[in-house]
Amino acid sequence: MERVIFLDRDGTLNEEVHYLHRKEDLKILEGVPEAIRMLKEAGYKIVVVTNQAGVARGYFPESDVQELHQYINECLSPLGAGIDYFFYCPHHPVCGQGIYKKECRCRKPDTGMFEMAEQVLQVDKSRSWMIGDKWSDVEAGKNYGVYTILVGTGYGSQIRKEQMENGCEERSLPYDFYAETLIDAACKILKSEYESRSLR
Ligand SMILES: [Mg+2]
Ligand SMILES: [Zn+2]
Repeated sequence: MERVIFLDRDGTLNEEVHYLHRKEDLKILEGVPEAIRMLKEAGYKIVVVTNQAGVARGYFPESDVQELHQYINECLSPLGAGIDYFFYCPHHPVCGQGIYKKECRCRKPDTGMFEMAEQVLQVDKSRSWMIGDKWSDVEAGKNYGVYTILVGTGYGSQIRKEQMENGCEERSLPYDFYAETLIDAACKILKSEYESRSLR
């Protein structure tokens, strides 16, 4: 069985850019390569799960998504932080054009991309995590049945702030942890793994 870190892409791995699809607009967030390397060295597989409705809307073709993912790995692999698998949802239920207008199973918060990962990995859900900067990421992880982290990059800090302003109590939050950055998230994962191991 594999322990897997499911990662959102935009706002989590790279700077949030509206409908990112060009290599020259890709900015990997600070500390991301180090965070991924820490997790890989601890034995986790790294799987990106990303909604890419820009394809559905006709803003760019699927080939752009695939080329960008290849490029992300050209940047990360030399740093010991290569992504093991990428999965993307090119659909949208309302705004999609042609074959991409679809009530699919893969668009987060649904769990289709996680199930695609099961075709290539034996996922140990009880020791796997989903990290992202939106509610749909947290919900997808919960729907699938893994631990979840809301990360403060991208939209995450704004979501967190609104929650705190609404007087939401820490223990009633829908995610397992909030982390300012992916490095912070990686540290929380490794710490909780260490703690659960010492409890066994
Ligand atoms: Mg995102
Ligand atoms: Zn889809």
